[in-house]
Amino acid sequence: MFQIICLKSKFLRGIFNQNTYVLLNEDEAILIDAGADVNDIKDIVGSRKVLGVLMTHLHFDHIWNLSQILSEFKCNVYISKGCENRFSDATLNASNLIKKEMKFEISQRQISYFEENMSIGTFQIKVYNTPGHSRDSVCFLIGDSLFTGDTVFFDSIGRTDLPDSNDQQMIRSLRKIREIDFSIAYPGHYDSCEKSKILQTINMYV
Ligand SMILES: [Zn+2]
Repeated sequence: MFQIICLKSKFLRGIFNQNTYVLLNEDEAILIDAGADVNDIKDIVGSRKVLGVLMTHLHFDHIWNLSQILSEFKCNVYISKGCENRFSDATLNASNLIKKEMKFEISQRQISYFEENMSIGTFQIKVYNTPGHSRDSVCFLIGDSLFTGDTVFFDSIGRTDLPDSNDQQMIRSLRKIREIDFSIAYPGHYDSCEKSKILQTINMYV
């Protein structure tokens, strides 16, 4: 059993409202995305060990505090193979859309790559590739919770007008999500919701 806490990002006056999730069991924690403040995460995590940061995709609002988080908790970031160039590519991480271009490097020894089924501590994670919003978008199934990143929100889907967005892939990914067995969706923005709400939303597009 684990607990899920949602922290909202505060950067740029909070306008992006990115959701960073902290999953807690008795003595371990994992993070999903990295938009929240390190101090807010520390308050939630307490004395637990942070085992890793899983990235739903590498857009600027999701990686905003990643460097600080990795140096604070001395853990690895989990991404798709071959996507590390997004940390230093302001077009691919979409930060060229705002006034503050993001370009940074993460040391190779702090990068781990997704496997379809992963165990991190006692957390069991299934990774689904769901490109469309971006080529590197994934969803994570952990227990009966699905972390959907910017692929689908409670009443809308992620935008597909970004540099490596793809409408056809988005449609395929939404169909894939429809088939996943989960109870609650935790998206990268806005509120969490039950699967039935996500199905209604997907049915508006597919
Ligand atoms: Zn995004």
